[in-house]
Amino acid sequence: MTSPSPARAEGGFPVVGIVGGGQLARMCQPPAVNLAITLSVLAESPTASAALVVPHSPVGEHTDLEAVRTFARECDVVTFDHEHVPAEVLLALQAEGVALHPSPQALVFAQDKLAMRRRLTDLGLPCPRWAQARTGADVEAFAAQVGWPLVAKAPRGGYDGKGVLVCREAADLETWLAGVGEGGLADGILLEEAVDFSRELSIMVGRSPSGQAAAWPVVETVQSGGINTEVLAPAPSLDPDLATALTEGALRIAGELGVTGVMAVEAFEVTDPLSGAPAYLVNELAMRPHNSGHWSIDGAVTSQFEQHLRAVLDLPLGDPSARAPWTASANVLGGDYPQLYGTYKHLMARDPGLRIHLYGKGVRPGRKLGHVTVTGGSTGDLASLEALRERSRHAADYLQGVVTE
Ligand code: ADP
Repeated sequence: MTSPSPARAEGGFPVVGIVGGGQLARMCQPPAVNLAITLSVLAESPTASAALVVPHSPVGEHTDLEAVRTFARECDVVTFDHEHVPAEVLLALQAEGVALHPSPQALVFAQDKLAMRRRLTDLGLPCPRWAQARTGADVEAFAAQVGWPLVAKAPRGGYDGKGVLVCREAADLETWLAGVGEGGLADGILLEEAVDFSRELSIMVGRSPSGQAAAWPVVETVQSGGINTEVLAPAPSLDPDLATALTEGALRIAGELGVTGVMAVEAFEVTDPLSGAPAYLVNELAMRPHNSGHWSIDGAVTSQFEQHLRAVLDLPLGDPSARAPWTASANVLGGDYPQLYGTYKHLMARDPGLRIHLYGKGVRPGRKLGHVTVTGGSTGDLASLEALRERSRHAADYLQGVVTE
């Protein structure tokens, strides 16, 4: 049962409101419990991932100003499980004095990929070559500069569920061009060169309203079929100068954009065409806890979820250092086997070192249901990382029903 307003601990403790009841809101609950901070979640349904564990989880739509306003009234600060709260809702709350973290002025760069590209380019941060296209002529002009294939992106989420399209010729973009001016394509299409990257990296930083900032180690995000399946922390064999450049770049983005809370900067590792040195290009920003930071729950002194709470409350930030030489985290995607709990006996008996995290979501093929993390190994020893990867991947495969032993 939900209570009419969130109950707070005696002793001056705050209520942190999270709009959206997904797994990110859910994973803020353990550190909130430890710090006696009350969470309140505006959930999509009574069985949303976070609503299952946060006692005060009123049900309401994030697009409904009245619902969000009523929810926010009971909270000391308000933050987000996702980036989909419309700007008009955010600006109305801000005008009424609600403390929003991140602010709508920062969040726009995670909501709108064209705004992000424009701003990062102005700041001189390395991005793939890009253009804004409204017509077939715009597409041809950009292709003449960078060549085919191109990567087309809907600047704002939710365009037919398809946000990214690799195009080999102008005809591939016909449907998208016909949709320009509407929905996620209101301002046109973001075109990018197809980057020839060696791998995908991510770095997470936390930043507080006072301006304190802290960065976790750079990680590698392993993708399979367009889905992030594994995170390796730190990114193995990463050039130290590249690690420094990406860390400085992410901290600079957080400061220049006024980010409050945690942010992920997803990047491509490339080779600088002039110097031949390893370099990075920014792919995109997420201003919330992120899949590439889940490893920090078990692998870092301070998890991204605790850091997010500290940052939005303007508390001093925690230490983001790794606690072990390596952390390998494998995502659990929905498979054909809905009885997840039934897998625990075998997995827990087989490997007592597994850290299993499931989000309480119903099994649907391809849906992110959880992750399994293993820490250990020896610094710089890639074989020891491979052994950890094997364990976390096996557990994720077993949970998905891909392997049965
Ligand atoms: P989403 O918002 O759906 O996560 P992204 O912009 O992160 O979309 O793109 C999804 C994936 O598509 C990336 O992880 C990467 O593998 C690939 N991708 C995106 N942009 C480019 C690009 N310019 N060149 C090559 N691959 C890209």
